[in-house]
Amino acid sequence: MSAVLLLVTFASFSYYFSAKMRTQEYTGRLTYRAESIAKVLGDGAQIKSDVLLLDKLDQTAFQDLFLEEIMVYDPVDFDLVYTNIQDKVVQVDIRQLELLKREKYMHKQVLVTEENAEQAHEFELVGIYDTSNKIPLLVLVSAYDKFGHQNLTNLKRILLIELAVCVALLVAIGFFFAKQMVQPIIRLVRQVDKINVNNLQNAKVNIRGKNEIAQLAVNFNTMLHRLGESFNLQKSFVSNASHELRTPLAAIISQLQVAIGKDRTAEDYKQILQSVLEDAENLSELTNGLLQLAQSELGEQHFKFQAVRIDELLLDVPNLVNVQDHKKRKIEISFERMPEQDDEITCPGNESLLKILFLNLVDNACKFSPQHKALVSIDFDDSYITVKVQDDGIGIPPADLQNIFEPFYRGENTVNVRGHGLGLSICKKIVQLHRGQITVESKVGHGTTFHVKLRKS
Ligand code: ADP
Repeated sequence: MSAVLLLVTFASFSYYFSAKMRTQEYTGRLTYRAESIAKVLGDGAQIKSDVLLLDKLDQTAFQDLFLEEIMVYDPVDFDLVYTNIQDKVVQVDIRQLELLKREKYMHKQVLVTEENAEQAHEFELVGIYDTSNKIPLLVLVSAYDKFGHQNLTNLKRILLIELAVCVALLVAIGFFFAKQMVQPIIRLVRQVDKINVNNLQNAKVNIRGKNEIAQLAVNFNTMLHRLGESFNLQKSFVSNASHELRTPLAAIISQLQVAIGKDRTAEDYKQILQSVLEDAENLSELTNGLLQLAQSELGEQHFKFQAVRIDELLLDVPNLVNVQDHKKRKIEISFERMPEQDDEITCPGNESLLKILFLNLVDNACKFSPQHKALVSIDFDDSYITVKVQDDGIGIPPADLQNIFEPFYRGENTVNVRGHGLGLSICKKIVQLHRGQITVESKVGHGTTFHVKLRKS
């Protein structure tokens, strides 16, 4: 569109300046003609015959002026002294003559419609008041610049044709490039249309090139890959969860079936009920874990964040551990250095989530160490509060270290320890929700230390 506008402007300028130059050139010629006539008539030559005078005047013209009309007036009484034609097309009245006398020069364009002519012609009229010769005279010459106008009409035609061709070319080129640009988008849309839940894993769009659309396709593929991965994760999560739920449920059912199969002693019933109770507790732990995981996956906006004193929160954890577990567990809490003010060990957070976090870590430390002992220490600096949960237990094999934060992942050395592999994934989600960091150091047979860094602001 802007290219068309530019072309139109360019063509208009060309036409305008050509028309202006034509007028200038033609008025120059008319002025020269008028001056020559004034010279011939003004030097007082006794030329009686109009024919002779015309001849003499014609000698002054270096080129024929088309439909030329000459009018020579006396500047005193405005009598017509000479004219080359009686039936004039261009008329001049007395007011114009007076004006010419005052201003010494005039130029006008007069539109004349001749009889039987199809269109009007624009005559050029030039008048001069000549006082440089013996007899002062008002000389007016008018003529029609036939060739000039013809040239202009031709120029107009050429410009219009050029413009039409250029616009047509531009439109065609525009269409061509637009089609070239849209083609990859259409291909992308077609390929995306074919992607569904069943082929998401291997889905890929294929757009070659180095333009933005190709870049978009690359980003789209990355997104598809991530989607596929999370879809896989979701699927394996569901199958893991159902498997974990099914095992204790199946155990409960089979134990109860065995129990009611025949009459048993009170002692037998007690034993079976004890075993069923353990499985039911196991189930309850698992469902609690799943619930906590689902909760920790909610966004920040779902939780109430407030200033939490980490030392007070940690002091509460042993009570929770004791309620959850019947085994004797030892939890020692200490400060790396003593805080002088409350805000040094206060950070924004959700109290119940932070309790779940530390409870899981302390629970693991006790669970995976022969002494069932966890050492918790608190440290702080200007930006962070760091909580260290340490034990001298079985440790984590290096191969397991990078996976322990995944849901349902359990270390290879934990076969004899009860658990579902949900605790650490919940911890990770909670720490992420608090925009903190959780790291682990461990040595098999020596112990494990978890570091949790929480932002103070
Ligand atoms: P669970 O404790 O139910 O197995 P978690 O998600 O809490 O599940 O832990 C995942 C795995 O990480 C554990 O199975 C274990 O292999 C390892 N782990 C976590 N904490 C400790 C620890 N303190 N000492 C040794 N291994 C640990």
